This record gives sequence, structure tokens and C-alpha cells, in this order.
Amino acid sequence: MSTVKDLIDQAVDRLGDDLEKLSLQIHDNPELGYQEVKAAGWLTEFLHAQGLKVERGVGGVETAFRAMIETGAGPTIGLMCEYDALPQIGHACGHNAIATAGAGAGAALAAVRDKLPKGRIVVIGTPAEEGGGGKVKLIKAGVFRDVDAAMMCHGWDKWILHQDLLGIVRVAFEFTGKAAHAAADPWEGVNALDAVIQTFNNVAMLRQQVRPNARIHGIVTNGGAAPNIIPEAASCLFYVRAADLEYMWQLHARVIACAEGAAKATGTALKVVDYRETAYEPMKRNEALLEAFGANLRAVGEVDSPEVKDRLGSSDVGNVSQVIPCIQPLMKIAPDGTPIHSRDFEAAAATPLARRGTLTAAKVMARTTYDLLADPALLARAKQEFSKAK
Ligand SMILES: [Zn+2]
Ligand SMILES: [Zn+2]
Repeated sequence: MSTVKDLIDQAVDRLGDDLEKLSLQIHDNPELGYQEVKAAGWLTEFLHAQGLKVERGVGGVETAFRAMIETGAGPTIGLMCEYDALPQIGHACGHNAIATAGAGAGAALAAVRDKLPKGRIVVIGTPAEEGGGGKVKLIKAGVFRDVDAAMMCHGWDKWILHQDLLGIVRVAFEFTGKAAHAAADPWEGVNALDAVIQTFNNVAMLRQQVRPNARIHGIVTNGGAAPNIIPEAASCLFYVRAADLEYMWQLHARVIACAEGAAKATGTALKVVDYRETAYEPMKRNEALLEAFGANLRAVGEVDSPEVKDRLGSSDVGNVSQVIPCIQPLMKIAPDGTPIHSRDFEAAAATPLARRGTLTAAKVMARTTYDLLADPALLARAKQEFSKAK
């Protein structure tokens, strides 16, 4: 006789072609954070067709959504989808696969609805992970308030149950100087680009004195209009990351000081653009949820690799992990050694290997959700661990 988990696996396999189509559609139509209108549309259409109750624009965010299965009074388990792309390099973070895995898990659970223990499953569409802090907004709007535990799978080149995430805060600097002809009257100008370059030099020096699990990196967002005009306006954007939030805020202050020093040295005016409202927090580990996920992963025949300590990113799923028990295992959707945010990863996110990883992730998340509904002791352990951990 088939168990519920067998039926979950069969439902995902049955939906495999539809899920792959959904994934490729999102992949081939990359949309930036908060502009994911098509992706949110396709995902909610799919979930609605699978029998989930869909709400669009939740938490006051137009491209966010919630799709629900309700079987009675019980715990609520969240399955998160991301679907924003990167500027210029499209789905090089594989969020099309994240979205499809979450939607696939929701659809598989809807297919076994009659056999589910009492409770609620919510597939939550979380926009703008790449810097926009969609989950931060949804947390503030109360979307996670009634969720007892949540999970999502992120694409990677290996199956890994847990990777630490760094806290991250963005900060932008806008320098204003004075335009003048760069050859005829350079002494009349005040060079805003010099202030940007000096900021980078200051940060480069700061960087050699920081702890190994901190990262500071930036780009020039405006470098002037033409070489024969002393730039009157120039700007740059930095990301400041650290494993420890207190240390991250210390570095944030020092990076601002780097820009202030550059403004002073060049005689430009500085405006600091503050993004501290959408700072991302580190990932709080939850062993109880990771163990349940890992057991289901091995049961469907996958092998996971050990955590890699120096490949450190950041995500607003870290913020979710600070308010409820939450995990973000990594699913293999690319050949070993493929770095994320690369052209190669973008190409990999639309291959049969990505289909395989995505469908497996859908099965494993659906199975783990089933475990959480069926075994109150498991959810209790996850919650107890959450409240004890720092
Ligand atoms: Zn990314
Ligand atoms: Zn990502």
C-alpha cells in the first residue's frame, strides 16, 4: 500500500512537465525585485489550478502572494518561493527553481489533501530577495505571524542542508561637486568622481583589517557624464556583510566614515542613502527541521554534502529564521563547482539537472511539511530549539 509520502512523490512526478514549464517560463522572463508581475501571475495561476486558495498582493506588496491549503485546526507550515532575477544576468541565482520547488511542494500537498493531518500549509510568494528585502516587509506586515515553521530550497551546485548566512546592510553615497571644463578650467571644478574613487581606496584599506567572515564590496553607480566635464555628481553603492550583526553595524559605520573622509578630501558634499530598514539578518540554524529534511532527502535517494564554511552569502530568509523556526537547504541544480550569480549558473538553472533538483526539492519539502503536521513532537522540538538558540 502506498504511504502518503509515496503519493506526494507520485504527485510531483505527475506534475513534472508542468513544473518544468513554469520554471523555464520564469527563467526566460527575468524580472527584477518588486517587478515580478509575470512570475507571481504564473505561480498563483498554477497554485489556484491545483486547488490552493490564492491571495495576491499580501502584506501590501503587489508581487507577493499566499496560497493556502486548510484541513482544520492545527499548525501552519510555510513554504517560501522567490522569483526575482538579477540585473543584466537574469536568473543567475536560480530563483525560478526556488519558486517552482515551493509551488511544486504546495501542489503535491494539495493532491494528498484528504490524507493530511489537520493544519494549514501556506505557500508564500516573497519578492525581491536580491537586495529589496521582500521578506523583511512581509514579516513587518505580519505575514509570518501565524506560521509555526517555514522552509525553502535555494539552488546551488550541491545538496547541502545548511549554510550559514551573513547579515548584510546596503549603503549608498552620492557626492556633489561642481562641473567645469576638464581641460580649459579644471581648477574651477570640484570632482565628485574623485570622491567615489577615494571612497573605494579607503574601503580597500579598511578591508584588510576586517575579520575573515566579513565582506565589503561595492560598485560605481554614477561616474560622471563625459571625460571633458569634471563630474559634478557621482555615486556608489556598497554592501557590508558580517556573521555577527553587532560587527556588521560597526563596519557599516566605518564604511560611512570612509565616504565622509573622501568628501572632506575632495571638497564635495556627501549624501548618505540609508538602507538600514532592509538589513538582512544571519541564518539561525534549526537542527530539528534540518534532520527531518535530511531524512526525507536521503529517503528519495539523494546524498548531501557537508556545509562549506567559506562560501557565504546573505538572504532575507535569515530574517525569517530570526522570527520563526526556518531552514533553507541548498538543492543541486548546477554542475559541481558552478559559482552562483554567474552566467554559467544562469544557464544551468534551465537544464534537466535543474529540473531534477527542483522536483526533488518539491518532494522533500512536501514530505517534511507532512512530517511537521503528522508529528507534533517534531514541531515542538523545532520550536523549543528556536527559543533556546541565540
Ligand atoms: Zn542571489
Ligand atoms: Zn538567491
